[in-house]
Formats: sequence, structure tokens, C-alpha cells
Amino acid sequence: MPVIDSRYGIYIKDSKPVKVCQWIDCPDAEIGYEDRKMKMCARCNVVRYCSKSCQRLDWSEHKLYCQISPIMDIAEWMERHESLFRWALIEGLRLRSKPSNIFQYVLLVEITRMDRLMKGVAPSPFFVESMRLKKFSDMEAFMTPDPCKDSRKIMEAGGIGQGIVVFQVSDRRPGGYTLFRFQYHDFHEKPSGEEGPSRTGWENVTMGVVNGEIPISLLSRRIEGPPDAASSK
Ligand SMILES: [Zn+2]
Ligand SMILES: [Zn+2]
Repeated sequence: MPVIDSRYGIYIKDSKPVKVCQWIDCPDAEIGYEDRKMKMCARCNVVRYCSKSCQRLDWSEHKLYCQISPIMDIAEWMERHESLFRWALIEGLRLRSKPSNIFQYVLLVEITRMDRLMKGVAPSPFFVESMRLKKFSDMEAFMTPDPCKDSRKIMEAGGIGQGIVVFQVSDRRPGGYTLFRFQYHDFHEKPSGEEGPSRTGWENVTMGVVNGEIPISLLSRRIEGPPDAASSK
């Protein structure tokens, strides 16, 4: 049970690996494995073998990524990075200069389980693959019938609205699950109405911090491209 959601108190069952023998030179590969009883690697449950001998022969290769999956809590992970995703909403939707975007777009964050990508102690249990804006109309199947309900209330009270971050978690296996989780951010502040400085690279900054490549202290600096040549003289 490697992925859990402590908010709902559930775990998300892993899909089973495809029914093929992992050993690349398996003598039975040509016949196929349809009616065969095959065993999963007892440690990682990620690969299958048709025989003990295939498993033994594959070990020098497989040991490079075979590991007992850590328990990864998606709710805890989302909460831990909450303020960062809030920032990404402000930058990505340009909420300072174009607050009406909150009624049109969600921020879609595609993530993969880190244990499927690397072995050992990962800087983060989940890896952000991409972040982009999506129109509500493109996300219809996953959203509540009226995703702007709370936004309208906040706007009527003088605020900007409610930003929505949609997390899409993939199992990365054929036939594997795809999970959707939502994070809601209320922006009660008044829209400023003025054009803020255009910031690019908010996706890379967010992904860098969450994926553990950039220290969070960098975020407090202005990230607007390299200093101009004149000032460096
Ligand atoms: Zn085999
Ligand atoms: Zn294994």
C-alpha cells in the first residue's frame, strides 16, 4: 500500500505489473505467458518472472531499482507545498493583473510517484512532471458541476475568488490508476487592477522546489531573468 491519502483515510491499491517475464533473454518469451503462473518480485512487486532462474539471471539488472516502496501520503505532500502552489496560482493565472482568470482556469499539476523513477531516499515522494493552465471546460469530467460557486461568493464580497489546483497522479503502469486531487485557495484580497511585472518561469521554480532541486530560499529573490549586462560592469 504505497500511496495513501491521510485526509480521507484511504490507500490506493497498486495495479499489477504486466504479465511478461522481466528477464530480457527469457527462453519462454516467444511462447508467451498467457496461461502461466508467474511470480512477482516479492520485494518491490513491480516486475514478474516465469521462473526462479530468470529472476536470478535478471538480478544484477533489477537490483538497481528494486526496493520496498515507501508509504507516500498524497494529502500530506499537497499540504506541505500548499503555499508554493498558492504562489503558482497567483503567477500562473496572473491574478494581480487579470483576476477574472480565476473563473476560467485551473492549475493542472501532473505528478508521478518518485519510487517509480528512482531508487533510494528521494527528496520528495512525488515528482512534478508538468504544470499548466487548463480551461474549466477541458476538465469538466473531473470538476464539480459549478466550480465557480465559491469564487462568486468571494468576488461579491470584494475579493478575487477561489483558485483551484488539480493534481493528477499517475501509476505509470499499463492499466494503472490515475488519481485526481483538488486543492482550493481562497483569495479574499481586493484585485489591484494594475499590471504587475510579467513573471515567467513560475512553473520551473515551483517544479524545482517541489522536486528538490532548488532550495526554497531562492524563491524570495526576484526571478525575472539574468541581470542586464550594464549593471554587471
Ligand atoms: Zn522467464
Ligand atoms: Zn524487485
